[in-house]
Amino acid sequence: MDTARAFIDTERQWGAPNYASLPVVLQRGRGAEVWDVEGNRYLDFMSAYSAANFGHCHPRIVRALTEQVNTLDIVSRAFHSDKLGAFLQKACETTGHQAALPMNTGAEAVETAMKAARKWGYERKGITPDQAEIICCANNFHGRTTGIISMSTSAQARGGFGPYLPGIKPIPFNDADALAAAITRNTAAFLVEPIQGEAGIIVPSADYLARCARICKAQNVLLIADEIQTGLGRAGHALACHGYDVQPDAVVIGKSLGGGAIPVSLFLARRDVMDVLTPGCHGSTFGGYPLAGAVGLEALSILEDEDLCQRALDTGGYLIERLRPYEGAKIKQVRGRGLMIGVELHGAAKASAQLVTHLRARGILCKNVDSNALRLAPPLNIPPELVEEFLHAFEYALERL
Ligand SMILES: *Cc1c(COP(=O)(O)O)cnc(C)c1O
Repeated sequence: MDTARAFIDTERQWGAPNYASLPVVLQRGRGAEVWDVEGNRYLDFMSAYSAANFGHCHPRIVRALTEQVNTLDIVSRAFHSDKLGAFLQKACETTGHQAALPMNTGAEAVETAMKAARKWGYERKGITPDQAEIICCANNFHGRTTGIISMSTSAQARGGFGPYLPGIKPIPFNDADALAAAITRNTAAFLVEPIQGEAGIIVPSADYLARCARICKAQNVLLIADEIQTGLGRAGHALACHGYDVQPDAVVIGKSLGGGAIPVSLFLARRDVMDVLTPGCHGSTFGGYPLAGAVGLEALSILEDEDLCQRALDTGGYLIERLRPYEGAKIKQVRGRGLMIGVELHGAAKASAQLVTHLRARGILCKNVDSNALRLAPPLNIPPELVEEFLHAFEYALERL
């Protein structure tokens, strides 16, 4: 513990206090396993908020990254590179979209979506200048920029950072009637997480997204899905929307798109939406740089080659089936899709934090989310014996609660 303490103290002394990290100092990772500086081994049931969907240090990601970094690192979009086109093509084919715009972090992709929606609203829909509205959902999580936190309904995320962006309309999640009622002729887009992640793995009713899609289509409003967490296999499909038979007009993906190694995000859309972003109006120095192209293409290929959507459905279905019987005195509800699983406890938020601590003592790393729930999200290719190891640890930890 002393070794860990020193690392934690140094971070605390020199770092900003904007995270309350759990007291584990990780040093090494491989697949679904990670080791701390004292040599303790853990199963990663967090996957860095789904940035590590393919497991840590996937050999194919490591190879793509090192080969590219030894060949060409960055050119900026002032020039073309031999890696960008194939990456964008693969991303469009994977998600069913017509065009893609590369950024780095998820928040940047969401900002891109907001800018594109506004410009599309003015140029294609004829919205009155500077009056465009974006409808979002209560308890959303879309990132941390000043623009994005203007959509947040969390006092913690927003408080002290005003003034906020105008033209934002939050409505309740999982309420298609509220969407229909909120739309005006100035509405450019409805931005939604198909399954709310940070809010506590909130799975909407089966017809919610399809109803939203119909409403948006009828009113000429863009349905934009934030699939930064739900996408790329996490919820059992390339896009969680596909699991609801919905093709959004635009989508943002990120997190595991960088193979767990580098930040890579994309805004993808129909051609008529994308084409409002003309030269000079938007961009990013690192967005779509050769490293991102090489790693992003490899990540999308791994998703396909390892059949990770199906594996997430199979392993997730099995986990939920094994966890459901625990619903009762301590556990209120087990819910989820694919390997995006929420275990909600009864009572105050303290219970889920305690369960997290007990699980850590048994070698499982995970974290509770905002509501009194545990997020279980191991890498999509977690082998069956590690799932069994988790279930043993879970039973033990629950008994201790
Ligand atoms: C993580 C996340 C983001 C923000 O991504 P960053 O890379 O942290 O900027 C946006 N939306 C959702 C749903 C996320 O889970």
